[in-house]
Amino acid sequence: MLNNYGIDIWGDNNFFIEDGKVKLNFGSKPSLIDIVNQIRDGGTTGPLIIRFPHITQKQIQKLYNTFNDTILEYNYDGKFFALFPLKVNQLPNYILPMLKYSSSFCYGLEAGSKAELLLAMAYNNKKSPITVNGFKDKEMILLSFIAKQLDHNITVTIEGLNELITIIEVYKELNLPTPNIGLRVRLHSQGSGTWAKSGGINAKFGLSSLEILDALEILKKENLTSSLTMIHFHIGSSMNTIGPLKKALKETGHIYVELKKLGAFNLNAINIGGGLAIEYSAYEKTTQYSLKEFASDVVFTLKDISIKNGVETPNIFTESGRFISAASSVLITPTLELFSSEYIPSQIKLKEKNPPIIQEMYALYKDIKKENAKEYMHDSLEHLESILTLFDLGYVDLRDRSNAEVLTHLIIKKAIELKKYDKDKELKNLDHKIQEKYLLNFSIFSSLPDLWGIDQSFPIMPITHLDQDATRSANIWDITCDSDGEIPYDEKKPLYLHDIDLKKEEYFIGFFLLGAYQDILGMKHNLFSSPSQVNVEFIENKMTLNNFIKSQSIIDIFEDLDYDIANIFNNLNNNLEDPLKSIIVSLLNDNSYLKTIKTTYK
Ligand SMILES: *Cc1c(COP(=O)(O)O)cnc(C)c1O
Repeated sequence: MLNNYGIDIWGDNNFFIEDGKVKLNFGSKPSLIDIVNQIRDGGTTGPLIIRFPHITQKQIQKLYNTFNDTILEYNYDGKFFALFPLKVNQLPNYILPMLKYSSSFCYGLEAGSKAELLLAMAYNNKKSPITVNGFKDKEMILLSFIAKQLDHNITVTIEGLNELITIIEVYKELNLPTPNIGLRVRLHSQGSGTWAKSGGINAKFGLSSLEILDALEILKKENLTSSLTMIHFHIGSSMNTIGPLKKALKETGHIYVELKKLGAFNLNAINIGGGLAIEYSAYEKTTQYSLKEFASDVVFTLKDISIKNGVETPNIFTESGRFISAASSVLITPTLELFSSEYIPSQIKLKEKNPPIIQEMYALYKDIKKENAKEYMHDSLEHLESILTLFDLGYVDLRDRSNAEVLTHLIIKKAIELKKYDKDKELKNLDHKIQEKYLLNFSIFSSLPDLWGIDQSFPIMPITHLDQDATRSANIWDITCDSDGEIPYDEKKPLYLHDIDLKKEEYFIGFFLLGAYQDILGMKHNLFSSPSQVNVEFIENKMTLNNFIKSQSIIDIFEDLDYDIANIFNNLNNNLEDPLKSIIVSLLNDNSYLKTIKTTYK
């Protein structure tokens, strides 16, 4: 059966397989390989990040439509607003098209640092909301007052009472209207999934019950109660079950009701933070709820609590960024080399006189049949052990050892082939151990940092050859000199790739769902920078390739590290004449990724 690499599980109809290729399910439905070839025809080699702004737009639409439909369905009085948390992807290639495509939605931006707040102030669609989370100093609070002066609809969520006191201080100094104030509540309930530590009683962020009550007292005393408009929680990224959200909603809903009853008359919104998961698995569904269920739980719970307590229902804000951005970017990497652990019979080079064990192994190899396959295989493994011991003791030479290794390998391969249809577990396990190593032209540290840092899995698949059987269990190597730069074969999540002769054809592997967090977390380990990147957009079904950015040159990377560039040129070129001098110059002006390795030596 042909492998579809779980595209039906994680793909969300964004891509489909046709004529053996992965194609984009949008616009003129180009294949990914066509896009890659167009870029390569322009002279760019190496890995390529392709962004699809329409997928971001689709997610924003889906989020708004689902919540707005649910609000209608439940006859809910509040309104729905969403914001993109900038920390998930701050790149202009991502943010600017997103803002363009979302202007009709009042889609806002969430900032967690001064830099992000400045970006939000510079680019947010006018009248769309801005929220500010995270720890703040006086400068950052000052900045939010300036945003308010610039007519932004800004809410500063305070993480502690000191921030509230600073707001009051700035207010008195400037004598300008305060931005809206939100309170981040420290939840008793905890999230689920890898990032659950964002919630819970010991969470890094948020105010305790006592601090919430104190905050309201302070606001009343300063005559600023009207500034308090929002309460906020964030239970952590990628919730895989819905239970923790329901708990957090009940907890926050009751805090909202209490604050209203205690006199927070302008409080009108609950911001439920992020947490919406997307499906990264290529093997089985791991997210246990749908967006519809998520929306229904939010709308129903908040309505229920408000009505029972006779207060008006709050507006709903969400800040899910992973859900919005993950699917919109794909990395395509060329395969540089296949390091096969395959041996072929001509590599057995028997000597005139061989040790008896080698003779015996050769006989096993010649005589192996279905009935004796496992027995012979066990014998050969035992013989190999003996040969390795004899080698260590100096009794056999390197040729003997090589013959033993090649023979054992061929015997195992034959055994596997002979018993193919017997579903033999032991043989299958051995087969899994004999993997092909695919050396790909990319850096895991630069492009998939969460795979390295927190063991997150991403869908991986070839973008061509999908009409052929993929038979090789695959181990992926990147080009960094770090033993962590590897995606080892995992029996629980087996990856099979094709048997390719790279002398005859190219083979490109796609890594999907990289649009959330990966770009900015990516690092320059071994001085590999971000790959080249391009945005794919459509004008009336006609594809255009926009915002192309070439991967950073080596000299630019040096500059980023604050090296003295003139000094580097001097040191390198002092004793060189052309043509060697020009080679150095051209290398410095190119990126670190490898050019195709073509071997012709036989
Ligand atoms: C990180 C963060 C988000 C984004 O969460 P995702 O689940 O990754 O989309 C939203 N709100 C706040 C306050 C955050 O810190």
